[in-house]
Amino acid sequence: MQKGQIGVTTENIFPVIKKFLYSDNEIFLRELVANAIDATQKLKTLSSFGEYKGELGDMRVEVKVDKEAGTLTVTDHGIGMTADDINKYINQIAFSGAEEFVNKYKDNANSIIGHFGLGFYSAFMVSSKVEIRSLSYQEGAEAVRWTCDGSPEYSMEPCDKTTRGTEITLWIDDDNKEYLEQARIDLLLKKYCRFLPVPVVSGKEQEWKDGKYVDTDRDKVINATEPAWTKKPSDLTDDDYRNFYHELYPGQEDPLFWIHLNVDYPFNLTGILYFPKIKNNLDIRKDRIQLYCNQVFVTDSVEGVVPEFMMLLQGVIDSPDIPLNVSRSYLQSDRAVKKISGYITKKVASRLEDLFKADRADFESKWDDIKIFIEYGMLTDEKFCDAALKFTLLRDTEGKYFTLDEYKTLVEASQTDKDGNVVYIYATDPVEQYSYIEAANAKGYNVLLMNGQLDGHFLSMLENKLEKTTFVRVDSDVADNLVPKADKKDSGLNADQISLLTTLFRSQLPKLEKSEFMVSFESLDPAANPVLITQNEYMRRMKDMAATQPGMSFYAKLPDNYNLIVNTSQPVVARILADAEKALDEKLNPLRAAVSADNERLTAVRAEVKDNKPTPEQEAEEKKLMESVDKSRKEQDSIVTTYAAGQPAVKQMIDLALLGNGLLQGRELSDFIRRSVSLL
Ligand code: ADP
Repeated sequence: MQKGQIGVTTENIFPVIKKFLYSDNEIFLRELVANAIDATQKLKTLSSFGEYKGELGDMRVEVKVDKEAGTLTVTDHGIGMTADDINKYINQIAFSGAEEFVNKYKDNANSIIGHFGLGFYSAFMVSSKVEIRSLSYQEGAEAVRWTCDGSPEYSMEPCDKTTRGTEITLWIDDDNKEYLEQARIDLLLKKYCRFLPVPVVSGKEQEWKDGKYVDTDRDKVINATEPAWTKKPSDLTDDDYRNFYHELYPGQEDPLFWIHLNVDYPFNLTGILYFPKIKNNLDIRKDRIQLYCNQVFVTDSVEGVVPEFMMLLQGVIDSPDIPLNVSRSYLQSDRAVKKISGYITKKVASRLEDLFKADRADFESKWDDIKIFIEYGMLTDEKFCDAALKFTLLRDTEGKYFTLDEYKTLVEASQTDKDGNVVYIYATDPVEQYSYIEAANAKGYNVLLMNGQLDGHFLSMLENKLEKTTFVRVDSDVADNLVPKADKKDSGLNADQISLLTTLFRSQLPKLEKSEFMVSFESLDPAANPVLITQNEYMRRMKDMAATQPGMSFYAKLPDNYNLIVNTSQPVVARILADAEKALDEKLNPLRAAVSADNERLTAVRAEVKDNKPTPEQEAEEKKLMESVDKSRKEQDSIVTTYAAGQPAVKQMIDLALLGNGLLQGRELSDFIRRSVSLL
C-alpha cells in the first residue's frame, strides 16, 4: 500500500477548500457528476478513434444515497484511473488531466468538461472521508482504491473492483447531513444536471400505491441529454424552441422570438436567447439567462457575463470557455467572459437586423414589445446602439412605423427650421395632447408617439446621435412655432395695448398651486384658438428627469412653467381689445401720460448724475419719481382689473385653454361650468 502526501505547497489545503474556494458547498455534486460525465465522454472519444476496442456497454452515471451508511456515491463507467493516473491527477492537485486530454484531442474533444481545477477536492467540503475505487479502461489495468480523510495524507492500494470506471464515495460529515436525503439530491441534480449529455440516474421512479408514493424498481433518469441548444437550428421547429422555452420557464407566455447562438471561433459558445414579452414594465430580473458549461449548469445570476440590457432576455448560454469554479467577481473580470459578452451583443444586434429585413411587418408587430429592450440597450451599450440605429423604429400617433432614415426623409421638407435643424415633433399622451396633435397635423407636421418608459432618455440620445435633429413635444409651443421658419411675426400691438391686455388676462388667471404662467401675444392663424397654453420643452425635460434622478431635486421643486399665448389675430381677442380701449382709454390716458412724463424726467436726472456720486437732492428726486411711476401703474392696474372682472369672456377664454390642458380642476372647474351656463 502506498502512503504519501498530496502534492500541494500549502500545508493544509482543505480548510481553504472548505471556506474560500466555493461560496456554496452544494456544488461538490456538480463537480463530481461533471467529472463522471467527462470520464464517460473521454472513453467514447477513445472508442470512436479506435483506441478503445472493448464494449462501451451501459454508460449511465449513477448517484446513490445510502442514508444508513452515511455515504453518497457517484459511479461512472468511463475511462477510469490507474494508480499512476491517480498520482498524477489527484495527488498532484494542481495538475489538470482534462487539460492534457483536451490538448491531445483538441479538435474532437469539445464535449469534455474541463477546466474544473480543484473540482474533485470540493468533495471535502461536505465529507469527513472520500474514497475512490477505479478500474482503468486500459488492458490489464489493476483496480485501485484511494482514500483520504481530509488531511493532506492519503493511502492508495490495489482493490477488487471488476467493472470499468470510477466510483467515488463520500462519507458525509455531520454538518452536511442534508446531502443524505434523496429529495435534496434530486433537487441538486435537477438544478445542475438536468441537461447533461449522458444519462444520470439517481433513486427510483415512484408510483402512487395504497394512498402513498412508493419506489418502483425503475431507475430515475434526471436529465434530458440533448437539450435544444445543442442541436442544429435546421433540425428544430418553432414548436421545439417554444417547448424548450416552457421547459426552462414553466407557466410563462410564449416568447416573441429567439436567437440561436452557435460559434466555435474565437471561442466556443452555444445557446438560445429568448425575447419574452416585457411591455412597458422595466423589470430586470437578475436570474433569467442560465449559464452552462458543456451542459453543466453554472449559475443563473449572469450580471457581468452578459451586458446589462440582456438581463431582459431569457434562455441558455453554454460555453466551455466560461470558468466554472470561480467566484462571480472573478468571472466578471475574466477576459474570455468579456469577449463572450461582446459577441452576444453583436449577435443579438445582427439577428434583430435580420428579423427586421426578413419580415418588416412581423418586426413592426413586435416592436412595441421589444422596444424597451432595444432602447435600454442603445442607452447603455455604445456598440449595440450603433448597430441598432439600422432597425430602430419610430412610431407616429397614427400607428405607422418608420426607420430613422425613412422618418428623416418623410419630415425633412416640411419640418426643417430656419437654422437647418430637422424638428421631430412628439406626443407623450395622445389623448391629453389631442388638440395640439391636431393643430400640428393641420400644419402638415407628423407627430411621433413617445410614450415609453425610456423614451425621454432615448430621444435625448437620438439628438446626440443624429445630426441637426431636435425633438420638441407637441405642446411645447403653438403649432406655428414648433418649427420656427422665420423670425416671429409681430403681434401687431403697441406698448399700451400690450400692457392693457397683459393686465386684463393676468388678472383673470386662476391661482394654481406650483404653476406659473407667462402671458405673451402672438399674431397666429385667425382660425386658431384665442388662448393657447404651452410648456417650455427644456424646463419640462429638466423636471421630468429630476423626477427620476437623484441630485436634481432643484428642478423638481420648481413650479411648472406655462406660457399663456394670446392669439391677437383671433377676432374675439381683437374685439375684447377694442372694447377695453373704448371703455378705458379715457381713464388710462392721463395716467399713461403721467408715467411717460415721470420716466422722461427720470432719464434726465440719471443723465445728469452719470458717473458722479448723486447729490442728496438728486437722490430724493429719483426716489420721488419712481414712486410716482409705481403709483400711476398701480392705478392703471386697478382700473383694468376692475373692468376685467366684468368681462366673463376673458376668463372664459383662459378657462377653455386650461380645460384643454387638464389644468382646470375643482372650484375653478365648477365656476367655469356655471359661467358657461349663464353665458348661454
Ligand atoms: P479537473 O476536472 O479540472 O481536471 P478535478 O480535480 O475535478 O479537476 O479532477 C482531476 C482529474 O482527475 C481529472 O482531470 C481526471 O483526469 C481525473 N478524474 C477525476 N474524476 C474522474 C473520474 N470519475 N474518472 C476518471 N478520471 C477522473
